[in-house]
Amino acid sequence: MTDHSLHIGQYDVTLLLDGLFEAPADVLIHADGDVARQHAIASWGKPTLQVDVNCFLLRGPAGIFLFDAGTGSSWGPKYGHARAALRDAGVSPDEVQGVLLTHIHGDHALGLFDGDTAYFPHAEVFVSERDIAFFTDPAEREALPEARRGGFKIAEQLQRVYGARVRRIGAGEVLPGIEVHPLPGHTPGHIGYLLRGKDRSLLLWGDTLHLGDLQPVDPKIGLTYDLDPGQAVRTRLAALEDAAREGWIVAGGHITGFGRVTRDTDGYRILPA
Ligand SMILES: [Zn+2]
Repeated sequence: MTDHSLHIGQYDVTLLLDGLFEAPADVLIHADGDVARQHAIASWGKPTLQVDVNCFLLRGPAGIFLFDAGTGSSWGPKYGHARAALRDAGVSPDEVQGVLLTHIHGDHALGLFDGDTAYFPHAEVFVSERDIAFFTDPAEREALPEARRGGFKIAEQLQRVYGARVRRIGAGEVLPGIEVHPLPGHTPGHIGYLLRGKDRSLLLWGDTLHLGDLQPVDPKIGLTYDLDPGQAVRTRLAALEDAAREGWIVAGGHITGFGRVTRDTDGYRILPA
């Protein structure tokens, strides 16, 4: 096991790093308004944010699955390295039986596609029914600014390319020992996956938070990519509290590696697991 792999219950989970996402620090937002937002930007201290883009390989008795799929070839040569990481792990795309999405955003879903064909020719795609309903609703699309509409094109492409292999999921167990963990806010149907093992459990929490140093200390800090910022704050707080209380290991789309959440005098901290 490398530090990029964990054994949980009957599964081996391996982190696949797709690339590094950079954005100007002014994508930070704060639930308490502009003064708090400026304070958050100042405490970040750098002009840009840089975060990992992750997806995960799951190997177990039921076969080979992925959690999210990275960007594929859609975001250019700085991204898409999850495909090589998957090959290095000895897995070819046609062996992947399913891809479990956390939400319908490009850095999580575009790796499903090779142009207009399925990069994973035999995979089912598990997608939150709430997210697919939202991202196929023309009225919801109209209500959003252009820059927030990427998910709508992806939802259309997903249904066209994967067709009957799109599996809409709500709550409950999706694979043995793996449950959907609703985490709405970043997108309406944003979900995590809780892998329950005997001694330890792992919550793959997608984009519940992006900045592992900053947001646990002040969960009211968000990013402009959160479609419902208020709900995202409530979800972030609940997820941090649940993970701290239950001792879950956490990992996700953008924090580095696998972590453990601890309570601190001000907020929470994520320490390497
Ligand atoms: Zn993301």
